[in-house]
Amino acid sequence: MIRYKDEILAVELSSYCNLKCPMCTQSRVDYGKKGFLSLDLWKKIIDDFEMNNTYHEKFLPFGLGESLMHPHSYEIFKYLFEKNKNRTIFGYIILHTNALLMDKKISDLFLEYQYQIGAFHFSLDASTQEIYKKVRPGGKLQTAINNIIYFLRKRAQIPPKLIFQFIVMKNNVLDAENFLNFWSKVLKDHKLSFQVNYDWEPEMIKDTIFFKRENTWDVSHLNESEERHKELAVNLGLIEPTKGRILKSDEYIR
Ligand code: SF4
Repeated sequence: MIRYKDEILAVELSSYCNLKCPMCTQSRVDYGKKGFLSLDLWKKIIDDFEMNNTYHEKFLPFGLGESLMHPHSYEIFKYLFEKNKNRTIFGYIILHTNALLMDKKISDLFLEYQYQIGAFHFSLDASTQEIYKKVRPGGKLQTAINNIIYFLRKRAQIPPKLIFQFIVMKNNVLDAENFLNFWSKVLKDHKLSFQVNYDWEPEMIKDTIFFKRENTWDVSHLNESEERHKELAVNLGLIEPTKGRILKSDEYIR
């Protein structure tokens, strides 16, 4: 068997997205023709990995679009989970979604096979609809929240770790503390311990509220984005003001 431990294997299911967030390639780059990966090709990819006896520790069925937009998303994930029943093809599956299309049917499927999911990343970026409509135009924040809480309540084990993601931008930075308070309360109410990150380090070993730096496309704004992110991390007590990006060790774990 060929084992890939460190690499993440990614397959894009959908280059469409149901949103057009201003910071995303979806609204900034024209990739020409968009589409969905066909169900037959998907099955062939999974079958080929199985037949060739390869094992990938991490599998990401996600690219530049929203995978749950795929008209066959249920069949796609069911096929993946069934084939990987004994985790012989993939160690962990990592999911990213804006959670707007995570209805009960697909959530129940994820819950049934939750032992295969390493982390579930939820792109949120706001705690109020007023801010959400600026950073994630076209979506209803409450729908995403309800869908996440449905999954969180029924989850029986960790992993899957839940990552509540907030990209720090000009339009939402003032909402960051509310976001932290909102998800902290949800997690505490469910008696879950969690960590707060402003970077990929330290490793996310628990549910995580993640304040991520904006990867701006405009290089002239890179410093601005870095400074905004750093200032927020200081204000939230995630880093020492004088030490820049030095971590405060276990103070991340709440
Ligand atoms: S939901 Fe995600 S993929 Fe879709 S436009 Fe927004 S950032 Fe991009």
